[in-house]
Amino acid sequence: MFENLKAQPADKILALMQQFREDPRDSKIDLGVGVYKNAEGVTPVMRAVKAAEHKIWETQESKSYVGLAGDPAYADGMISLILGDAVARGNIAAAATPGGTGAVRQAFELIRNANPNARVFVSDPTWPNHISILKYLNIETVSYRYFDRETRGVNFDGMIEDLKGANPGDVVLLHGCCHNPTGANLNLTQWQAVVDVLNEKGLIPMVDIAYQGFGDGLEEDAQGVRLVASSVPECLIAASCSKNFGIYRERTGLLMAVAQDADGQALNQSTLSFLNRQNYSFPPDHGARIVSTILNDDALRTDWAAELEDVRLGMLALRQQLADELQNLTGSDRFGFLAQHRGMFSLLGTSADLVEKMRVDNGIYMVGDSRMNIAGLNTQTVPVLAKAIVDAGV
Ligand code: PMP
Repeated sequence: MFENLKAQPADKILALMQQFREDPRDSKIDLGVGVYKNAEGVTPVMRAVKAAEHKIWETQESKSYVGLAGDPAYADGMISLILGDAVARGNIAAAATPGGTGAVRQAFELIRNANPNARVFVSDPTWPNHISILKYLNIETVSYRYFDRETRGVNFDGMIEDLKGANPGDVVLLHGCCHNPTGANLNLTQWQAVVDVLNEKGLIPMVDIAYQGFGDGLEEDAQGVRLVASSVPECLIAASCSKNFGIYRERTGLLMAVAQDADGQALNQSTLSFLNRQNYSFPPDHGARIVSTILNDDALRTDWAAELEDVRLGMLALRQQLADELQNLTGSDRFGFLAQHRGMFSLLGTSADLVEKMRVDNGIYMVGDSRMNIAGLNTQTVPVLAKAIVDAGV
């Protein structure tokens, strides 16, 4: 039987990581995998996470099951972190999931169960896992214009025009902040215009928010999702704690479904628990408990937010340094978009051939679509990258 299985293509980013490891050059620079790294190239355990784990170790008396939707304290903490008081708590159903990917997967399953004819509109480009999970679930995907390859900003007119082509009941997948892979984001006026189209056409938004706190700040990065959730009759929100709590391997995510009233909430809540039970029963708890311990303790929360802010400002400084360096080398501001982008990624917007040339000539590893992980840089490697970009003729 197993011989009938189809060999699956290797994950491109993981293959790139392997290639990087095997590259003997000391000067190599890894801008591939989407993990935050500090100036020493380390993905650290955040101080508040260590402290929370210590507290949990000291106080936790049982590892027995919690609940199909996970610990309510985790859901409450995350809902208030993401949505503030934009939506009445009684209208929000939520379930813990294994990572943000788990939340995305459950959201797509919920969509398919609720409306097998729904199409999911995704930005061009988007996180490749969105597309592959949708394909795996046999959900029709339509891409909407998003990245302007000339300006390297958002092609907003194209986006709106494409969303207007959706049918009532179609789903629009939006990145809450720090768009992956482009780094180009909507401003609040643009979010409002998107909300107007959603309401005009009867579309259902699904917001994937995986980098809150990495862009303009914890509150600022949540403005778009809060506007959406408070302006439409119903929506889905898939959140990840992997990046902003630095707990990647703990697999900590949350899926929220916002309804108009308590009856809708109850139906959604039972659906989210049901989906968890079908797929893996109880969701992982350790990461969720770290998060709720931090969010419910003033000192830990303050320390976490401060460390996250340092991470954010560090990435912004690297962006500015890279844009300045390129301005000096080229005498033009055509790379100014690098300082405008937000989050961990920027899409350089160049060809796979030039990406490969930079890898071969300079040991610079970025994803083939020219996505760069800004956190893979430090003040010493920024000039090396800038020179490689110019030398390659980008
Ligand atoms: N959505 C987006 C857009 C992402 O970039 C990521 C992380 N790469 C995720 C969701 C989910 O990440 P995780 O499953 O590791 O929490």
